[in-house]
Parts: sequence; C-alpha cells; structure tokens
Amino acid sequence: MKIACAAFALLFAAFPALAQNVKITPIGSHPGELCANDRAIIFEDPTGVRFLYDAGHTVTGGNDPRLGTIHLVLLSHMHGDHVGDLKLKATGEGTCANSTRVPAPNSTTAEVVAGKNAVMVTTRAMAAFVHNKVDAIHGSGSKPMDFCPTLAVTVPVPAACSSRIDMGGVFTARAEGARQGVEFTIVYSAHVNDVAPSLLTKAQQDLLKADGAQLGYGPPVGFVVKFTNGLGAYLSSDTAVFGDMKTVISDFHKASLAVINLGPNPGLFQSGAYAINDLIRPASVIFTHVNEAATEGGKLKANTQTAALMKQVKAPAYLAISERTMEFDGKGKCVSGC
Ligand SMILES: [Zn+2]
Ligand SMILES: [Zn+2]
Repeated sequence: MKIACAAFALLFAAFPALAQNVKITPIGSHPGELCANDRAIIFEDPTGVRFLYDAGHTVTGGNDPRLGTIHLVLLSHMHGDHVGDLKLKATGEGTCANSTRVPAPNSTTAEVVAGKNAVMVTTRAMAAFVHNKVDAIHGSGSKPMDFCPTLAVTVPVPAACSSRIDMGGVFTARAEGARQGVEFTIVYSAHVNDVAPSLLTKAQQDLLKADGAQLGYGPPVGFVVKFTNGLGAYLSSDTAVFGDMKTVISDFHKASLAVINLGPNPGLFQSGAYAINDLIRPASVIFTHVNEAATEGGKLKANTQTAALMKQVKAPAYLAISERTMEFDGKGKCVSGC
C-alpha cells in the first residue's frame, strides 16, 4: 500500500498538470446571480493564461477591477451585447432583468484590449474594427494596433495585437515558462454579424439608414479552446442548432465542456436539448446569455425558459453565476464551485 501511494505521489510530481483545473468566472451585472445581460466570462488555464470571452455589456470598462490580468480577449460577433456598445454603470446597478448601462463608443472589447495590452482573438474582419477603436483610445501619435507577428505567442505580449485567423484557424498562447500553450480554434456559428450602429461613424450610420441596411463584418463565430490540462471547451456564442455540432465540435474537437448561449433569437430554448444531448454530447454544460433574470438569491427561478431547458439536458448543467468561480478538470467534470 505504502509503495502504491509513493508511486502515485511520484506520478503526480512528474505530471503536475494532471491535477490542475481550468477556472471559469462569469462577470455579470449582479454578483451571485445569472442576469439577462450577462455574457462576459473569464477563463484561466492552470499555466496562468487568462482570457475574457465576449466583453459585452456587463464590464464597467477596460479598468473593471473584476477583470484582473487579461492576456487575451475573444470576440464572437459584432452585436452590441457582445462587442459591447454599452458598459455597466456599476456592479449591481439596475435590476437583474435590465441592468443600468451607459454608452461605450469605442466598445468594451476595445477598452479591455487597450487597457490590458491584450491579444484580440477573432476573425480578421472583426479585428480590423477593433484595431481602429484601440487606436482611437490610444490617441494619435501612438503605434497603430496590428496583427501579432505569429500565430503562436507568449503572453503577456509587449503590445496589443490580434490573431490573424479566420474560420478553422488556430492560435496559441503560452504563458512564460510553460511547456504548453492554450489553443484557440475559430468555429462556425449559425447567426448573423451586423454591427451595433452606434459604434459606426455618423456618416456611415446615415448611409445605412437611407437604405434600411445593416453592416456585417464577415461571419460570426464560436470557439473551441484546448487548455493545457486537456479540457476542450466549446464556446458556442449566439447560434442556432447546426449539424456540425456533432461532426466538428464533438467528433473532431472532442469538446467535453459546452458553454452555451441561450436567448430567444437563435432558438436554443427550443432546440438546445437536441443540440446538447444528441449533437455536442459534452460531459458538462454552462448556460449563459439567458436574456431573462434566471436566478434570484443565486437560485434558478422555476418559471423561466432556462429552468425548462435545464430539465431536458442529460449532462450536468450549470449556470454562469456572476463572480462565482467554477473549476473543471481535463475531462470536463466540475470539481469545484458548481
Ligand atoms: Zn448576436
Ligand atoms: Zn447575443
């Protein structure tokens, strides 16, 4: 027995990553709740790489004290609630159903990228938009933001840069001194990618208005993130159910944790059970982007669309409760904070 224990201890000493978890902390409007406007989530790899997924409406700006160190910012699409045409006035301000927000003319995404000197991980079309906004924040005379020199970087990077990848592209971020990096792949999202008009110049807004038009920035996207402990996380963004959730997300990427955006528009309240149970088949699910005050006192409210879907999902499903940190092992099992 003693020998077996010693061997076990040695094994863990040789492979410390085996015992380490990915930390996931939602940054919503109201601490301890899952509220209507909540989207932003911070992920932390065991090697220390930290990234923000969709800055959205619930950060108070690039200097929100809840953010801490941010090495990378992921942007799924240009809808205001994701790129962040508004920012939270203050933590807990307003109601859970309708948090109080104020304009963020440069977008919360650009505010965080500029404030943290972070890497922007998104498509090239959306990166170009963020470059302009970050340059506006830095002011004239500063070096313009550009793509990172390579598709694999060590974080923190010396100056904010973006990933230069599109659908299917892979970008890697490694912490200084770590043997392995965190791998980001851009995947399909069955949604639209029209920019929030308030983020455009007045001239552009007028042109679009004259034709009743929307301005799209190429395809909207989701992400698959491979962490150094082996965890594969699928970040769906806003999406309808689509067949490649089985072939690409599940069969090829083997994502064991699914972070799923709900809400009425893409219809996942109706199709989510099929998407998760039959197509993605993850070990665990996290729900966010619920577009309703899903909790009260931190508990799921019974008469919500979120509660109705939770009952139909076979895998353990957790709510993205603001400022509560969940920890997941390499196989997608929640080991703490759920
Ligand atoms: Zn959207
Ligand atoms: Zn959305």
